[in-house]
Amino acid sequence: MRDTCKTEHDTQTREEVDTEAREEEGVFCRVCSLLITHPEHKIAIQGEFSRVFANPHGIVFDIGYYSLAPGCVKLSPPSDEFTWFPGYEWTIVGCRQCSTHLGWFFSSRDDGFWGLILDRLAGTI
Ligand SMILES: [Zn+2]
Repeated sequence: MRDTCKTEHDTQTREEVDTEAREEEGVFCRVCSLLITHPEHKIAIQGEFSRVFANPHGIVFDIGYYSLAPGCVKLSPPSDEFTWFPGYEWTIVGCRQCSTHLGWFFSSRDDGFWGLILDRLAGTI
């Protein structure tokens, strides 16, 4: 069996190894498991790596901060309404693959960071 489909077998083995490595290190969408970002992109904002916020509807979000989130896509135009960070506008962001709302991108004139909802992520958060 191995000899008749050796190439395919080798490819599968490599993918399995890659997946295991990513499960240890990555931050993934909890819904579809797309790689969203990496723990090394975690940053502190106002001295904290994460913080609990409530939106105007009283919904509570535990947000973690990241400098990069290549697995996210922006889903709204920027707004400064009810912003949690004075001087920063927010943009709704979601998973690039399944569009689940994962958090917000906060941007000022010369700065920006990603605030991701921790219980919608999996992996090394
Ligand atoms: Zn997803």
